[in-house]
Amino acid sequence: MSIRSGLGAARRRVLGSLYRRNVALGSCGPIVSFSFDDFPRTAYSAGGAILEGFGVRGTYYTACGLRNTANELGEQFRSEDIDSLLEKGHELASHTFQHVSSRSVSTAEFCDDVERGSAAIAQLTGVESTNFAYPFGDVTLAAKRTLGRGLTSARSIFPGLNGPDIDLNLLRANSLYGGLDRLRQVEELIRKNTERKSWLIFYTHDVRPAPSPFGCTPALFEAAVSCSVRSGGRILTVRDALAKIGIHEVNRKGQVRGQAKDQAKMCVPA
Ligand SMILES: [Zn+2]
Repeated sequence: MSIRSGLGAARRRVLGSLYRRNVALGSCGPIVSFSFDDFPRTAYSAGGAILEGFGVRGTYYTACGLRNTANELGEQFRSEDIDSLLEKGHELASHTFQHVSSRSVSTAEFCDDVERGSAAIAQLTGVESTNFAYPFGDVTLAAKRTLGRGLTSARSIFPGLNGPDIDLNLLRANSLYGGLDRLRQVEELIRKNTERKSWLIFYTHDVRPAPSPFGCTPALFEAAVSCSVRSGGRILTVRDALAKIGIHEVNRKGQVRGQAKDQAKMCVPA
């Protein structure tokens, strides 16, 4: 192990152990969720279509500032993609507005951009989103502590399975990158998730035949969804997985929506 990866692992351990907001998965597992970050158009046109083909849905962590732009992941989403995916029942979740790293700006600036991202989604859709994913997977202790209160969940890119205790301030997620040569690892993860009755979250970006280093091929994506369906786990969006566990979305003031008042303490510790 290099010094750098050793430091990375130590850092992840600290970030994973402090400022947790634990809830129990209980007997809700196994669950598998598929999520897309940013998001490139192909995440919806190809990835969304594959999920729909299996009768399931995904979570799109969207940074509204990327709308109508293009980068190495391909063309980014347009407004019509948002309308269409919501109509199909996918989840629109937040990913800051400008797609900034929590490690590159002050905590206050970062939290402002998280707020702005969530407000932009509310403006686009009429629905506030407080399921969140950290851009670049960059988490700081200060951001973890500060954001927790106003978010239903914050997803990281720390690999692993969620459960039996789930940290709502740092959901673990696993990359779904590359082509079919990665399938064996993906299948192994799904098998472990079934065995442990836990919650496995995948994330990717573009879904196309020649993906970026941060995306996957339609063939790998389809094989991963197919394997998850066959594994007998529930395939749920992050929002629906949390609802299954009994966690209902909070608004940005940390208030629980709907009637699930008994979850308020669990979602928003003092
Ligand atoms: Zn991102």
